[in-house]
Amino acid sequence: MIYFDYNGTAPLQEKIFSKINLLNIKNLANPSSVHKAGRNSKKIIEQVRNKLKEKIKANNYSVIFTSGATESNNLAIKGFIKKNKIKKIYTFKTEHLSVLDVVNDTQVEIFFFETHASGLIDLNKVEEVLKKEQTPFLLSVMFANNETGIINPIKDISKLVKKYGGFIHSDGVQALGKIPINLDDLNLDLFSVSSHKIGGLPGTGALLLNKDINIAPELIGGGQEKSLRAGTENILGIFTFGEALENLEELIKFSGNQLKEYRDYFERKIKQISNEIKIFGEDCERLPNTSFFSHPSLSSEIQLVLLDQNGFCVSSGSACSSGKIEPSHVLKALNVEKKYLNSAIRVSLGWETTKEQVQSFIDCWSKNCISKEKLSYAR
Ligand code: PMP
Repeated sequence: MIYFDYNGTAPLQEKIFSKINLLNIKNLANPSSVHKAGRNSKKIIEQVRNKLKEKIKANNYSVIFTSGATESNNLAIKGFIKKNKIKKIYTFKTEHLSVLDVVNDTQVEIFFFETHASGLIDLNKVEEVLKKEQTPFLLSVMFANNETGIINPIKDISKLVKKYGGFIHSDGVQALGKIPINLDDLNLDLFSVSSHKIGGLPGTGALLLNKDINIAPELIGGGQEKSLRAGTENILGIFTFGEALENLEELIKFSGNQLKEYRDYFERKIKQISNEIKIFGEDCERLPNTSFFSHPSLSSEIQLVLLDQNGFCVSSGSACSSGKIEPSHVLKALNVEKKYLNSAIRVSLGWETTKEQVQSFIDCWSKNCISKEKLSYAR
């Protein structure tokens, strides 16, 4: 099996298996307990909290552990609005559903900014709108898009938000481990991350909260995580998150060097195979590991099935819980033509990727998918 779906979930980092064995899971206790076993569990959690802050340069932040970035995004947006009586949210239709659905579920006014057709944020438009704002607001914008890989100009947006009296949340899930992050420099108010995108276990994430910011909890009843997220902490998940963070610098380096080379090679080759290929966000600054592309006469379904039969795990965009292949809401937001919308495939590489794997994917796709063009359905 060749796994090219790191943006969906990355494999558990190999070294973590042996670290889990050494941990002596049987002796993990409730971190709130005062006995030695409880204190040991608490120590693990505090070590990972500090490691996360150190790795993304977040001295001005506190860390709240959650069950993942979906929960972090819920807590950030709902908790901030509730505590600070915010009346308006600004965001983008290209955000992850764990932001869009939450925003739509609030009772406050919502404004969606248009992006350039490429998916790139139009800073002039953002400023034009924000400068008319009279009351405090929240703006939520992802650091990097999980489908196109487009990296947003977070620092510039953060500056605009501050200039016009607002607060900023960023979903940083896809940036972590792929590009450097310096939270103190970005001056964000709320920042969400997830363990399973960097090779820790799924079911763990964190919300980083600027020290000047207050939020209301979503889960109450136990006082854990400074009373901002009640419930016994997922010690094993948090432990693996910490282990995955350990070599964050190497992951970023590998991503910026090898993965960028493999991704660029891949895109050059598929464009040589067919001149009908469209690569989304191609001219934008993108995550080095991500390629989201369409061939207009090949449906996503057919490609996914053929690739799966040949041992390749890729996706047609973000993972959908129903397992159904729906056209990407990100591409819809960019008004991508229907012929490209229904044929999109996302390849996302990671630390176990080799150039040989990329080459065999190109060979397989070219042999099985391109030759199946005749099979494509009429649109
Ligand atoms: N935001 C983005 C950009 C994501 O890619 C994901 C994972 N697909 C999430 C949020 C949700 O993260 P989790 O799976 O940890 O809830």
